[in-house]
Amino acid sequence: MDTSPGTFADLGLRDELLQALTHLGYEEPTPIQRESIPPLVEGRDLLGQAATGTGKTAAFALPLLQRMPAGRDATEPAALILVPTRELAMQVSEAIHKYGKALGTRVLPVYGGQPIRSQLRALQRGVDVVVATPGRAVDHLKRGTLRLGSIEVVVLDEADEMLDMGFAEDIESILTDAPEGRQTVLFSATMPPRIASIANRHLRDAVRIELGGEDIAPGDGPLVRQTAYIVPRGQKSSALGRVLDVEAPTAALVFCRTRDEVDSLSETLNGRGYRAEALHGGMSQEQRDRVMKKLRSGAAELLIATDVAARGLDVDQLTHVINFDVPAAPAAYVHRIGRVGRAGREGVAITLAEPREHRMLKQIERLTKQKIEIEKIPTVADLRARRLELTRAGLEESLLEDKLDAFRVVVETLAEEYDVMDVAAAAVKLAHELSGAAVDEEEIPDAPAVHDRPERASKSRNGGGDDRPRRGAQKHQSAGMTRLFIGAGRAAGIRPQDLVGAIANESSVPGRDIGAIEIADRFSLVEVPEPFADEVITALRASSIKGRRTNVRRERF
Ligand code: AMP
Repeated sequence: MDTSPGTFADLGLRDELLQALTHLGYEEPTPIQRESIPPLVEGRDLLGQAATGTGKTAAFALPLLQRMPAGRDATEPAALILVPTRELAMQVSEAIHKYGKALGTRVLPVYGGQPIRSQLRALQRGVDVVVATPGRAVDHLKRGTLRLGSIEVVVLDEADEMLDMGFAEDIESILTDAPEGRQTVLFSATMPPRIASIANRHLRDAVRIELGGEDIAPGDGPLVRQTAYIVPRGQKSSALGRVLDVEAPTAALVFCRTRDEVDSLSETLNGRGYRAEALHGGMSQEQRDRVMKKLRSGAAELLIATDVAARGLDVDQLTHVINFDVPAAPAAYVHRIGRVGRAGREGVAITLAEPREHRMLKQIERLTKQKIEIEKIPTVADLRARRLELTRAGLEESLLEDKLDAFRVVVETLAEEYDVMDVAAAAVKLAHELSGAAVDEEEIPDAPAVHDRPERASKSRNGGGDDRPRRGAQKHQSAGMTRLFIGAGRAAGIRPQDLVGAIANESSVPGRDIGAIEIADRFSLVEVPEPFADEVITALRASSIKGRRTNVRRERF
C-alpha cells in the first residue's frame, strides 16, 4: 500500500470538497483514501478490504460526491449506499451531509424501526443519496417508493457484516435491479468466499485494495509496553483522564485524527487541570516552536497532535505515546509509537479503541508481531490506590532528604497526648489532601470488544429485517457462557454500555468477561460466564437499569 504523504488536492477533488475537509480538520488522506479515491473518481468499480477506523467512509463518499452534479435537482437518487445497521446508516448520512454541504447534496438515511411515512415524504421530495439498511431498502423498492432507475453508484459498506446478518438475498435483489452501467463499490473488513462471489457477479474489472500489506521483521518493532483500552466514543476523554492519572507520564504525546479533535481535546484536558498544548498543521512555525519549548522545559506535560504535525518531531523527554483514536493504518501506529522507547529507555504506548475498532488492533498486532494487551480502565479504587502511592513516594523522598528538625518538635508535643502512629497517619492524611488528590468518583464502564464472529451460512431475512437484535449478531452461544434475557431494549433507551455498566457494578463479573450483547427493541440478550449467571440474575433483579426494574432470567430456547 502506498503510504507516501500526499494531499486531498493531489487526489483531484473539487474545491467544495477540499474546503469541507479543511473545515472538518482533516489534514491528509488516509492510506485507504489515497488508494481508493483516484480510481473511484474515474468511475471504476472497487473491491476494498478495510475495517472501521481506516477512513473508508470518506474513501467512497468523496468520489461519489465528486461525480455528482452540484445542485442536482432530480427526484430519484443517484447513489445508494447499503449498510448493516441503523447506527451506521446515520453515521454515513451525517458524513455525506458534512462533505457535501457546499454542493447542496440531499442525503437520506433509511432504516427499520423508523416510521416508513416520514421516509416516504423525504423520498418524494427528492434525494441524491440514500443510505439504507438492505431490509428497509427492499421494503421501499417493493412499494415503489424507492426507484433505482437513476442510480449511478451502489456502495456496499461492511459487506461481510450485512451477510452475517442475513441480508444476502436483499443485496442480491438490489444489485440485480440497479441499472447495468452503474459503478459498484464493495468494502468489507474480511474477504470470505461469499464476498468474493458477490464481487465476481456484480463488479466489473474492479480495482482491488487491501490494507496492511507491509511487514515488519520481528525485533524491528519498537520496544515499548503496548496496551489498549476499549472505550465507547462518548467516554473517551474521561477514560483518557483516568489513564493519565494512573500512568502519571512525565511527557506524553497524544495523537488525534483531526485538527478539531486536537483543539477540543486540549481544551478539555486543560479544563481538567492538565498542562496540555495543541500542535497541528494549521499552526505557524513560530507557534510550533513555542509549544515544543514548553514541552522540553516541562512547562507542558501533554502534547496533543495530529500525525502531520508530529511528523519528524523528536523529544527526548517523551515517556508515553497515546492514541486517542486507533490510527487509520497499522503503519501509522508503528510510526507513532516509535517516538518513545528510544535509546534503551522504557516507553509506553496506549491506545483508546472504540468497540468496533477491535479488528484494527488485531491488524496492528499482525504487522508488528507484538501483543497489545487489552486492559481494564482503572477504577476509582485503582486511582485512589495510585494517588496514595504518590503521596507515600513523596513522604519517602522527604524522609530521605532528612530536613525534618524544624518539625520534630510538633511530633514530640503531639506524642505526649497521642499515639505516634496516629500522629503520622494524620500528617499523611493532610499531605494527601493538600496534594489536590481529589478523585473523580464516577466509574467508567469497560465496553466489550466486538469480537470477530465465526463465519455463518446466509440466512434469509425475517419480516421487516430490522427487528432482530443488531449488535453482535452472534446467534450461537459461546462456550462456557450463558445467555441472559433482560426485559428492556432499545425502546427503553438501553445501550450496550448500560448493560455492561449494570453488570460490572452490581456483580463480581468484570466488564471484560461479559460476552456478546444483542439489543432488540423490547429486550436484550447478554452473555455472561456460566458460573456467574445466577449471581448476575439476582443482582440485576435487585437493582435498576436506566432507572427501572427489569425482568432478568436465563434465555429460554
Ligand atoms: P471510518 O473508518 O470511515 O469510520 O472513519 C473513521 C474516522 O476517521 C471518522 O471519524 C472520520 O471522520 C475520520 N477520518 C476519515 N478520514 C480522515 C482523514 N483523512 N483525516 C482525519 N480524520 C479522518
